[in-house]
Amino acid sequence: MKKISVIVPCYNEESTIELFHQAITKMWDEDAKLRDNYELELQFIDDGSKDKTYPILKELAKKDSKVHFASFSRNFGKEAAMFCGLRQCTGDAAVMIDADLQHPVETIKDMIDKWEEGYDIVEGVKSSRGKERKTHGLFANIFYKMISKMTGFDMKNSSDFKFLDRKVVDALDSFTEKETFFRALSFWTGFRNTTVEYEVQDRVAGNSKWSTKSLIKYAFRNITAFTFTPLYFIAVLGVIVMLVGLGLGIDAVISYLLGKAVGGYPSLVVLISLSTGAILLSLGIIAVYIAKMFQEIKNRPRYILQDKE
Ligand code: UDP
Ligand code: MG
Repeated sequence: MKKISVIVPCYNEESTIELFHQAITKMWDEDAKLRDNYELELQFIDDGSKDKTYPILKELAKKDSKVHFASFSRNFGKEAAMFCGLRQCTGDAAVMIDADLQHPVETIKDMIDKWEEGYDIVEGVKSSRGKERKTHGLFANIFYKMISKMTGFDMKNSSDFKFLDRKVVDALDSFTEKETFFRALSFWTGFRNTTVEYEVQDRVAGNSKWSTKSLIKYAFRNITAFTFTPLYFIAVLGVIVMLVGLGLGIDAVISYLLGKAVGGYPSLVVLISLSTGAILLSLGIIAVYIAKMFQEIKNRPRYILQDKE
């Protein structure tokens, strides 16, 4: 019998964990094919929740031997929780899924079918953005357009809902970098991948932990964690500023030759503010990468566990 590990990052999910647990065990028990061929392992990762998530998980693990959990000492973020899940899981394959049932558990069946066909990575692709559209659909679209361009992987409608063969789990677990971007890194491993579509559901209970501000931070963090494109952007910016300067210079020479007075002050103001802006922006982008190097060099653990079972 093959074992499937279901990895569930949880941050303040006291209202959804039991519903999730019910939904997945019900599906497993009622589907003969699942029940007879695949053993289920549940790996809940409590990402330093401030509510009752941890005691609920502890209780659940006591009642149900399929349930395992790891609990962080504080909130380290979903990326850390996902990578902790990859380390903890023991299955022949693992599936990453949200606790709030926005990722329909039934889709796991389609993913297993694709896995049996020989694919190592099966990505859940949103067929619609569901409720999200209203809040941050536009922003999410821009972010995914940008990240697809910069990473060279098609990330549109991409999500963290992914099914990974043990090979991929081990490959991802072996990464030593601290700043990861799970969604793109799994493709980066290069294993055979395919997609299945799923309809994004409404959150069963509780609230999303994402504000638009945290999404923008997430986008910037991941773009700089995954690509050097912003650094190339600096070079392009330098060329543009140089061309503007050249244009103004030529204009000054022509004016001089024609015996016209050179318009000094306005062009100086434009040139100085343009180039200062460009320099500061460039320094800022370089600083971000230096800060990231600083962080990686410190080599702190990605998360700290306060309990696990
Ligand atoms: N999550 C987490 N750590 C965090 C934020 C979120 O582990 O710091 C988990 C959360 O419990 C949920 C999943 O990540 O299982 C997706 O979070 P959420 O539903 O808030 O995001 P959305 O669906 O709105 O993108
Ligand atoms: Mg959600």
